[in-house]
Amino acid sequence: MRQICEKCHYPSSTCICSFVKVISTKHKIHVLQHYKETKHAKNTVRLARLAIQDIELSVIKTNDDVTQIYQQLRNKKICVLYPSKCSRVLNKERLAFKNANYDEIIFIDGTWKQTKGIFNRLAQQCHIEPWELDNAELPHYYIRKSPIKEGMSTLEAIASVLETVEELDVSTLYSLLKGFQSHWQGPQKNPA
Ligand SMILES: [Zn+2]
Repeated sequence: MRQICEKCHYPSSTCICSFVKVISTKHKIHVLQHYKETKHAKNTVRLARLAIQDIELSVIKTNDDVTQIYQQLRNKKICVLYPSKCSRVLNKERLAFKNANYDEIIFIDGTWKQTKGIFNRLAQQCHIEPWELDNAELPHYYIRKSPIKEGMSTLEAIASVLETVEELDVSTLYSLLKGFQSHWQGPQKNPA
């Protein structure tokens, strides 16, 4: 039987504990994850949960799940990282974002289609303010998978947002991602 690390829950051969350094954030991070993403071995939300103190994960499968999220969030001021026509650009309106004093920043984890579905269902029920990242300005790129912005993993999106709006040192998140990736792609693979 394969040995699983008790702390990070990855197989012992790919344990990433040595890369994990927990950071605390001003905003609560809330990830809405499409249920099909939960089984993907390369999903980076697991990493985010190991490394970020105030993070909540909600798995979304049915409309009821979305309704439950709405109930939970309706008295809170929330925003969501989601690229759309009406999204404001975080890198450009950093101050406006800060002044909005959001209680939670929501990230949706899934394929483009899944993400869009969750966003639309949530937007039908409550007022959410969408923001996006101008990733031309973002320095880091490693995993080409998640749809939050083209080619960006959810962990990268979270790191980029924290770096942009909280001026947080997120280098440990990128180190974690690199360490994680070294198990998949072999060591020292260049991000370009
Ligand atoms: Zn471990």
